[in-house]
Amino acid sequence: MARLPLMAGNWKMNLNHVEATGLVEKLAFTLKDFHYDPAKSEAAVIVPFTDLRSVQTVIEGDNLPLKWGAQDVSVHASGAYTGEVSADMLAKLKCAYVVVGHSERREYHGETDALIGEKAKVVFAAGMTPIICCGEVLEIRKAGTHVSHVLSQVKECLAPLTAEQVAASVIAYEPVWAIGTGEVATPEDAQEVCGAIRGYVAEAFGAPTAEAVRIQYGGSVKANNVVEIMAQPDVDGALVGGASLNADEFAKIIMFYS
Ligand code: PEP
Repeated sequence: MARLPLMAGNWKMNLNHVEATGLVEKLAFTLKDFHYDPAKSEAAVIVPFTDLRSVQTVIEGDNLPLKWGAQDVSVHASGAYTGEVSADMLAKLKCAYVVVGHSERREYHGETDALIGEKAKVVFAAGMTPIICCGEVLEIRKAGTHVSHVLSQVKECLAPLTAEQVAASVIAYEPVWAIGTGEVATPEDAQEVCGAIRGYVAEAFGAPTAEAVRIQYGGSVKANNVVEIMAQPDVDGALVGGASLNADEFAKIIMFYS
């Protein structure tokens, strides 16, 4: 079964809601100009909470071939959790995706694999799809223990999920040393870990689940390196930070297949 590649742009803490609609419109215009075919790659923008309603309005209003999603979610359903946003609130805004466990959440907010797994579970319960992030820091890469490190992250993050949910998940392998640094893992590096993740999923949840789960690579993906990364057999998409803020560049990334 062919997996539809998912090219998701993580805007991080950039663009207010006015700038957000401008970028979405420009991206959609560029994709149309390039004759984008959504049957060949799925495109999503992962935006700040404050941009979600505006992005939803412009995409739905103009019937643009884009999905949208959030960068984080609360593990709680409602109540006295000042500053947090629940999965039901995001589902009401028709988010398709929610990123959980981005390395910046792990680093600056102390998020653990166990918490990330719980977040993935609440995302599914609200009818959306989690993009579950994992990846090693430079010291671990240098020590050569990156594969076992990432597999232990994945194991704990997936533990609360059913096999059916794992099959529907997106797992983003993002080596921390390659995020926002211009340092890209080689296509072989990406394949090594993405392949190992699929191998783990097969072992733990069965071969059909492993065949279905989509695994992205993220870390300084650009228009000029996306084709070779996407050529790897276990890479089913990209999670793109900096380059997704430029409509022309991100459109070229989405159109990697052309
Ligand atoms: C990211 O934020 O998930 C990311 C991969 O960033 P960048 O593409 O800028 O390295």
